Amino acid sequence: MLIDAHAHLNFHAYKKDREEVIKRCQNMKVINIGSQFPTSRLALELAKKNQNMYASVGLHPVHVLEQERDKNEIKEKIDMSDDEQLAGIRELLKSDKDNSIVAIGETGLDYFHIKTDKHSAEEIKQAQKDIFIKHIELAQEFKKPLMLHCRDSKESSWEAYQELLSIVNSQLSIVKSGMIHCFSSSVEIAQRFVSLGFSIGITGIVTFPNAGELVNVVKETPLDRLLTETDCPYLAPQPVRGERNEPPYVEHVAKKIAEIKGISYDDVITAVETNAKKLFNI
Ligand SMILES: [Zn+2]
Repeated sequence: MLIDAHAHLNFHAYKKDREEVIKRCQNMKVINIGSQFPTSRLALELAKKNQNMYASVGLHPVHVLEQERDKNEIKEKIDMSDDEQLAGIRELLKSDKDNSIVAIGETGLDYFHIKTDKHSAEEIKQAQKDIFIKHIELAQEFKKPLMLHCRDSKESSWEAYQELLSIVNSQLSIVKSGMIHCFSSSVEIAQRFVSLGFSIGITGIVTFPNAGELVNVVKETPLDRLLTETDCPYLAPQPVRGERNEPPYVEHVAKKIAEIKGISYDDVITAVETNAKKLFNI
């Protein structure tokens, strides 16, 4: 069965036809990822309503200190501080008696979208790190894996990834496992995450002609540490690149992984399903 380990059917981009998209996902499993309190709450609602859907809840680093707004994600302005959003997310976790929530995040560091009109870059980076550590504590408290996001600025060579790794390293006594979603760094950094017990999420970027290093990452990462994801509505793979993405398109990611590793498509599907079951218990 196909797995989309990181989707956002909870986002505004699906407001008009969400039910139709969900129908097209009947023969697969989907984890919808919250990025703020309201999208986390909706991810949980979708999981409660659909047997093949699960939720991850968290405050995305691009929203820490009200940095980024994206109309694909949520239309209205959210009148909650970061701490209020985290408190709301904690309430969702407490209310979830049947383990519809399978991970904490997305959380991590994003140095790509930093806007310095209200705060300095250093203040923003520190705030992202503080919020990330609070997610690690939630993961420990509720015994869930982490759903990590990491993106570097255009100028730096893996600064955000290095700092994320060093935070994970410093919290190893409480960090158990997780997935680093939409992996976009080097083979060496992928191997460090794998050695810390993490799985690597591969998006449609791997199907792009300029995928470059990501192809090597797939080649070098053991099959039992790979997960397939869309990050929909973003990052639609070839041959639907440029369209609004949706979970069934994850098949193009699985096909590309099979091609890179020189194994069958069915072997990729089976392995990813086993990996998702082990990590998220789905
Ligand atoms: Zn995402």
